[in-house]
Amino acid sequence: MTARLLSGTELAASVRADTTSRVAAAAAAGRVPRLTVVTATADEASAWYVRSIARAAKRTGIDCVVVDLGPQAAPSEIHERLAESSADPDVHGLMLQTPLPVGTSLAEAAQFIDPAKDVDGAAPASLGRLVAGLPAFAPATAAAVVALLDHHEVSLAGREVAIVGRSTVVGKPLAQLLLARDATVTLCHSRTRDLPAVTGRAEIVVAAVGRAGLLTSAHVRPGAVVVDVGTNPAEDGGLLGDVAPEVSEQAGALSPVPGGVGPVTTALLLRHAVEAAGW
Ligand code: NAP
Repeated sequence: MTARLLSGTELAASVRADTTSRVAAAAAAGRVPRLTVVTATADEASAWYVRSIARAAKRTGIDCVVVDLGPQAAPSEIHERLAESSADPDVHGLMLQTPLPVGTSLAEAAQFIDPAKDVDGAAPASLGRLVAGLPAFAPATAAAVVALLDHHEVSLAGREVAIVGRSTVVGKPLAQLLLARDATVTLCHSRTRDLPAVTGRAEIVVAAVGRAGLLTSAHVRPGAVVVDVGTNPAEDGGLLGDVAPEVSEQAGALSPVPGGVGPVTTALLLRHAVEAAGW
């Protein structure tokens, strides 16, 4: 079996086209949405992601400001910068890029993001609203996984989904979004006993770990749908997913890296920025 490709490029293009036309309408009225991205890391995968956000924002007509505080930034410096942008009426969307410097907690820092501007759903208030079923921006990556599955007409209600990775950025909010769609969700992590047995039961497996090739065909039952969120820097400067290439012979459908979840994440983030601006 060779897996059906769950490409994200077509979906990302259609989300971007919609965003671009909304931004153009706002620009005609003299308004430009601004997205501020605060980053404080030397991580190469993170820098690659921030560059792709800035490029896509520019193409869409959104003013994207990257505030690079450097990997030595103190928690107080990050908190102050987020509070400042939260209070700035010219900033419509605000996100804090991870990873953060050692000693800075995402949960603590994200409290300084105004939930109305929290386009990547990182603030504890946004996550709480998500769990409570109230309107909130979901983290763009988690939202992108669901949008990608919807786009490729993968049904969710009643299906068994195993998510590998329980971060606040991807795994946990994704579990909430999938529960809201009536999937039966198992959240796996580094202490999960016998990971292949758990993921091997699932009809849909989502890998969000950050280790190239961690998920092999031993983790996936024949015909399963596999979504690869991982973005691991490859030696040749490219990107590798968390799913080993051999899985394409075992799975029924598989999202590529790059070209799967990544472009949809960026597109949804920009759409959130326009929504945060109220346009
Ligand atoms: P993270 O915060 O480091 O979390 C990784 C998760 O994987 C943790 O829950 C960890 O378990 C679990 N894990 C680690 N080793 C494991 C193992 N051997 N078996 C099972 N679980 C294991 O990472 P993240 O921020 O969620 O990102 C995950 C990946 O997604 C990274 O490659 C990142 O670059 C990528 N990403 C992509 C996008 C995109 O748009 N495509 C966006 C965001 C992130 P513990 O909790 O027990 O430590």
